[in-house]
Amino acid sequence: MRSVVRFDLEQARPPEDEVLHAHGMRHAASLPGRVRVALDAGWELFRELASPAGVVEELPREDFGAVYQGEGCNPPNSPLPHIVPRAEGLQLYAATVGERVSLRIGELFEEHDVAVAYFLDAIASASADRLADILAARFHDRLTERGVPPDHAKVLPYSPGYCGWHVSGQKRLFARLHPEEIGIHLNDSCLMTPLKSVSGVLVGAPGEAHRFKPDFPFCEACLTHECGRRMASVLRH
Ligand code: SF4
Repeated sequence: MRSVVRFDLEQARPPEDEVLHAHGMRHAASLPGRVRVALDAGWELFRELASPAGVVEELPREDFGAVYQGEGCNPPNSPLPHIVPRAEGLQLYAATVGERVSLRIGELFEEHDVAVAYFLDAIASASADRLADILAARFHDRLTERGVPPDHAKVLPYSPGYCGWHVSGQKRLFARLHPEEIGIHLNDSCLMTPLKSVSGVLVGAPGEAHRFKPDFPFCEACLTHECGRRMASVLRH
């Protein structure tokens, strides 16, 4: 089943500390006055311009391989093909903070209003990640309503461009999901516009199924090792 989700602004608004921590800043209370003013201007623009929306569609497990294969550019081994066979359910997803936010960020940089542009960009990035988390929570609820035990319905989003899923995989994902309906398009480099958008597959599975050893060849170039935090998040509850 496919559905379009319209988020209200409060849902899409990331906690301020989360925005600051992602950019190496500790607490709002410790910000110098001028930085606080720029951050407040970023929040005001976000409230004025954001129009968060998402789209999801259930993906039968047997159809996953064709979507994941993409244009044939994935490395021979990667985490998802090991995780998906243990999944209780899959959903393709895409979500966006909306075009007006991304356009305004570009304009602000062109106008050399760098501080406000920087904070609006940071808020919008955190918001896009939050939309993926909200869709993951909704999918968890859907699986448990169907009778999947909660500890077998741990949902994590996985995206093209990360952890062995080549970014060109966006083409098949888009051909199946059609996020154009909510205003998300792919350019020739398989990057999404608006820029503040997310996409991929939500995998609902036992926490253990999401666990793997990050020793794939592509992990050597990884700067974030984000998989550790993600695995911990599904294993600790
Ligand atoms: S180390 Fe980096 S590239 Fe490797 S699985 Fe973890 S997050 Fe992905």
